[in-house]
Amino acid sequence: MSSRRRFIEVLPLAGLSVSGLSLLSLTAACSDKAALPVAAPAPAPSPVAAPVAAAPAAPAATSALPMVDPADANAVALGYVVQSSQVDGAKYKTHAAGQACGNCALFGGAAGAATGPCPLFAGKQVSAVAWCSAYAKKAV
Ligand code: SF4
Repeated sequence: MSSRRRFIEVLPLAGLSVSGLSLLSLTAACSDKAALPVAAPAPAPSPVAAPVAAAPAAPAATSALPMVDPADANAVALGYVVQSSQVDGAKYKTHAAGQACGNCALFGGAAGAATGPCPLFAGKQVSAVAWCSAYAKKAV
């Protein structure tokens, strides 16, 4: 027995409380023939390229930064000298031979660089052979 015939047999028992439109839909749904066309699923959203974050601005080239002027108030306050050998040892008793920006923990230049930034002189660079009273030996 087809499902359509079975449906027609049991429909009166269900009280015929369905509307004509629903009855049409139900009979069609029970048909052995091809099912009514079903709305196609929504197409998958097309892949959208994720917004590309702007690349962070490259840090300013160290060589483009101006050198610290030893006459600047901050440099004077820190006893900055462009040659570590020029340090007034009587005034800066912590100074020792061999100390220079190039081997200071605060030196931001690459190993062996002649100049590099120092956080104590923002926007400027210091010479690797310079020195100031904030010198701290770089850990090896
Ligand atoms: Fe040079 Fe270090 Fe002084 Fe900076 S803190 S100026 S790197 S000695």
